[in-house]
Amino acid sequence: MQPIGGAGVIRVPVQSGQRDYQVLVGNGALHEAASDLAAVCSGGAAIVVSDANVAPLYMAPVCAALRDAGCAATEVVLPAGEAQKCLARAEELFGVMYERHLTRADTVVALGGGVIGDLAGFVAATYLRGLRLVQVPTTLLAQVDAAVGGKVGVDFRAGKNHVGTFYQPWTVLADVQTLATLPARERRNGAVEVVKYALLAGGETMTLIEGALSGAPVTGDSARDPAGLCREDVVAECVRYKARVVAADEREESGERHLLNLGHTIGHAVEAAGRFSRYSHGEAVALGLHAMLWLSERLTGLDAADAERATRLLAAVGAPDRLAEVDGDTVVELVARDKKAAGPQITFVLLSAPGAPVRNVHVPSESIKEVVEWLQRP
Ligand code: ADP
Ligand code: ZN
Repeated sequence: MQPIGGAGVIRVPVQSGQRDYQVLVGNGALHEAASDLAAVCSGGAAIVVSDANVAPLYMAPVCAALRDAGCAATEVVLPAGEAQKCLARAEELFGVMYERHLTRADTVVALGGGVIGDLAGFVAATYLRGLRLVQVPTTLLAQVDAAVGGKVGVDFRAGKNHVGTFYQPWTVLADVQTLATLPARERRNGAVEVVKYALLAGGETMTLIEGALSGAPVTGDSARDPAGLCREDVVAECVRYKARVVAADEREESGERHLLNLGHTIGHAVEAAGRFSRYSHGEAVALGLHAMLWLSERLTGLDAADAERATRLLAAVGAPDRLAEVDGDTVVELVARDKKAAGPQITFVLLSAPGAPVRNVHVPSESIKEVVEWLQRP
């Protein structure tokens, strides 16, 4: 990675009850980070948690920035994959921290995608009731979503993120240069969340994202590669939206944060019906967004032309638009179970227009059945 001048660095402030912090978004931001890291951990110790794919690529520049900040770093490299997000792995990390005599003045740096961010964030939140935490997200999904907003945790039995808490980081360093090494499928995963923000925010945000996606090239696996979205202005725009929502509803209490569930109600059901392997999170959410558009046209007055515009965005990302190889009835059952668990509050977020989401829409079960059938059309 070549260091790039500071001109491209965007700082997005996040306000929360726990603490205010900045998300630094830049092209080459890891090289700009020494002063930000010094502000968090100067003179202390740090443990940098990463995975086997990310560490060989980015551990060195992060540790160099920590050294420049006067901070002694211990590197911990875990295998890659969701299976690492468990209590056993958290306990191992506690062990390393105990052996190194880390104190509350020391820092945990999470270097990787959502898995590392959630796990290392959970460990930072709970060891000694909370150490300093720096998120260095290296996937598009983590940069626009997981690393901002403070949700940390591990999976437990069948429950994804079943054990966890809200713990805001001290700072987030999002370097879009790291996205160049992501496999195309992972980039698509994050790109679907970017489209979600385009639809939630509408207006100039949507135009910016449409522009960045125009002419998305077709890659070797014959689907589109939304590499054009891996830009600091696009990532910063998504982070700004999320920061506003998080500031309004830090702990998912007032309902504002529910907006971020656009496309996720059916998306989560599709993901679970495929046992978290048939469809990636992004692919499942893309199907959820298609379903959301279909429902919005019928229930909240979304214009056909706007639905078409949104569909074009999802196509440009290379996301699937048909549900296949997953049983439709299972999806319908899982949505129903989800709704039941949420109590009398119904959890659908739909759109009346781009930039105009509608929360708490009651969707009758027949419509859910119909939309899942429509997703399975040949
Ligand atoms: P997310 O939950 O954000 O999608 P994961 O932690 O599941 O992210 O990471 C997805 C995969 O991509 C993992 O195999 C991870 O090791 C790998 N990965 C993460 N960041 C990079 C990167 N910048 N370059 C290459 N591979 C990466
Ligand atoms: Zn999501």
